[in-house]
Amino acid sequence: MAGKKTCADYIAMQLLCSDKKGSAPCGSCRECSRVQKHIHPDYIIVEKSKKSFSIEDVRAVVEDSYTAPNDCDRKVYLFADCDGWSDAAQNATLKITEDPPDSAYFIFTGQSENTFLPTLRSRSMLMAVGNPSADECAKALSELLPDHSTDELLSAAKSTGGNIGRAMALIQGDEELINETSLARDIVDSLARGDEYRTAVLLSKAAKTREGLRRVLCAVSYEVRDSAVTRTVTPVEGEKLSRLGTGRLLKMYDALSAAQSRCLLNCNADALSSALCAQLYS
Ligand SMILES: [Zn+2]
Repeated sequence: MAGKKTCADYIAMQLLCSDKKGSAPCGSCRECSRVQKHIHPDYIIVEKSKKSFSIEDVRAVVEDSYTAPNDCDRKVYLFADCDGWSDAAQNATLKITEDPPDSAYFIFTGQSENTFLPTLRSRSMLMAVGNPSADECAKALSELLPDHSTDELLSAAKSTGGNIGRAMALIQGDEELINETSLARDIVDSLARGDEYRTAVLLSKAAKTREGLRRVLCAVSYEVRDSAVTRTVTPVEGEKLSRLGTGRLLKMYDALSAAQSRCLLNCNADALSSALCAQLYS
């Protein structure tokens, strides 16, 4: 799932906007623009002291939520990408999510609802976030970034699977994202040419961290998925990956998806990337 952060920002704007149109935030008042820039003193993006939120991180938020908001009459806390946090850290949220101070709101995001314990889910309102298609994403980007060419926007939309926030970061020069995207393109290219050795080298380059590997695999899987779909609709001459059969592409997609899930667990990224390479060529 992607688009989570954009969705969280929208909810925060809904809660803090000073010029709401019905239930929708205006998107342009002082509160909305500070939320979008992540500089609103009452929109607190909780920092992780370790790889994921620790009990101490949660306790600090619990304590802070009882203090008065700064500029608005509400405070919104965002725990982004909770995947991999411990049951103990989650349990530390239970009291505050059961009976929060009147002014405090909490947003938790994760890859799937299974990231959260049933006890936390039962205290929350659940929302699933899907991605728009690459074309829809490029269209939305053209309004946000009118100075960029349609080709550039569409290419960014494709490499980020239609995730508007990530596509914008890519166009605006986020270095880590640019490196990951180019690595993902090289992997796709090696798969299209059937160069198993090159795939193995590139995958091990991506496997410096589990999270980095997961993001690269995610970008590769978008390409594989799109090629499988394109192939089903109209086989395009020269389309790199679609030369491989649809069955093979779907098998690759499954292997890539399974590997992405494993990246969220406590496993060795190098071992995972070697096993994946073997599966992609089996
Ligand atoms: Zn507003």
